[in-house]
Amino acid sequence: MKTYKIFRQISWALVLLNGHYGWTSENSSFPKGFAWCAATAAHQIEGGNSNSDWWEWETSGHTRSGDRSGAACDDWNRYAEDVQLLKDLGVTRYRLSVEWARIEPTSGHFDLQALRHYKDEIILLRKAGISPLVTLHHFTLPLWFAKNGGWEWEGAPAVFARYVTAVRDALEDEVQDWITFNEPSIFLSLGYLDGKFPPGKKDAAALGRALTQVMKSHALAYHILHDGKVAQSGKKIRVGLANAVLVLDPKISWSPIDKLLAHSADKKFNWAIPESLNTGVLKFSIPFQVSINLPIQGLQGAEDFFGLNYYTRNLVGFSFSAPHFISIAPVEALDSTHRSDLGWEIYPEGFYRAMKTAHELKPDLPIMITENGIADAEDSRRKDFVTSHLQQVLRAIQDKIPVEGYCYWSLLDNFEWNDGFSPRFGLYKMDYATQKRTLRPSGIFYGEVIKKNSL
Ligand code: BGC
Repeated sequence: MKTYKIFRQISWALVLLNGHYGWTSENSSFPKGFAWCAATAAHQIEGGNSNSDWWEWETSGHTRSGDRSGAACDDWNRYAEDVQLLKDLGVTRYRLSVEWARIEPTSGHFDLQALRHYKDEIILLRKAGISPLVTLHHFTLPLWFAKNGGWEWEGAPAVFARYVTAVRDALEDEVQDWITFNEPSIFLSLGYLDGKFPPGKKDAAALGRALTQVMKSHALAYHILHDGKVAQSGKKIRVGLANAVLVLDPKISWSPIDKLLAHSADKKFNWAIPESLNTGVLKFSIPFQVSINLPIQGLQGAEDFFGLNYYTRNLVGFSFSAPHFISIAPVEALDSTHRSDLGWEIYPEGFYRAMKTAHELKPDLPIMITENGIADAEDSRRKDFVTSHLQQVLRAIQDKIPVEGYCYWSLLDNFEWNDGFSPRFGLYKMDYATQKRTLRPSGIFYGEVIKKNSL
């Protein structure tokens, strides 16, 4: 008995010495069956996506360096090679997106070869023991849809539903896990409020209209996927969203105004959409510009897992010079070891906070980390980034937050939207001139973690 007590005291002392962030060999292991994953998106890697709104956006000179996606990583032609890269890495899941602009190049006409292409890729993945997590919309749109008014168009949900039905019918035999939309808060705010993504608007009322149609589209898609013959025959399928969580803290930590602004920005940007799925009512407002309080049919509970994308935090503060007097920006003057090549703060604690808040809001849902990664061309910080962020996943799991897997963004360096090709997020380094892929040291490290199922 006495020995047991002493042993217990020593154990507690070790735990306390390690602090909340220290990890013993025992707790550096991930649960059995933890899903190890890498993520990509069609437009960023496939190349030649010429029927899309983004292609037009790039062609009309909107990207920072003038870069155009062009052939990107030529994954459309090299997908078999990329499946091999995933296999070499040892992942058990691959998050990819299918490209609407290819599948439905003109309204109502589906390209069966494009659908066949994705089916072949997914069959190859499955043969390699990798289960697909398929995103239906990752920022890009068919040009004809964008020209019809894009997400502001009232006909958008019906047309999106038609597309989802076609994809479901083609792929449902092979796919269990679906994501309807990637980061609605990001593509809508950048596209309709900041003007940095197509359609390049700065119009809060348009943002409200687009958000409404996206959430209606999500609700329809959720039910269409569950109504497919495969799901109806009893096979379990799951549908979710990939939610961007950008941790938002007050710029001046003691300032009541900054605190209020940060809290309100956090609620609107990060949690308005997830909350709407809890209640079935979309609530969103920007004072004097837009106010939505709209029940949406089929929205309540329309998610089977919570997809979480986390990269960094920003600070929110009152500023006379900022639009609407609110500045939202990364922490200033960080040395290069504490930020990515894009200037984003490396802030693993925020990852834990994001998982915790998501779990508090959705206590019954498993959490899948659908994206987490760093732009690091020199590969000097990626290993530490992955380690420190996976430590937060372990911490969350220890705290009984049900995190089922982790997708590193990204498998390959790729076309980083307006920032073009210069940011390097890949586990594999791309030589775009030769299309050669080379596993980075941090990629080797990630592969070892996967193999050991442990840090
Ligand atoms: C997007 C990706 C993007 C990544 C890095 C996410 O917001 O889903 O498409 O490449 O962040 O910026």
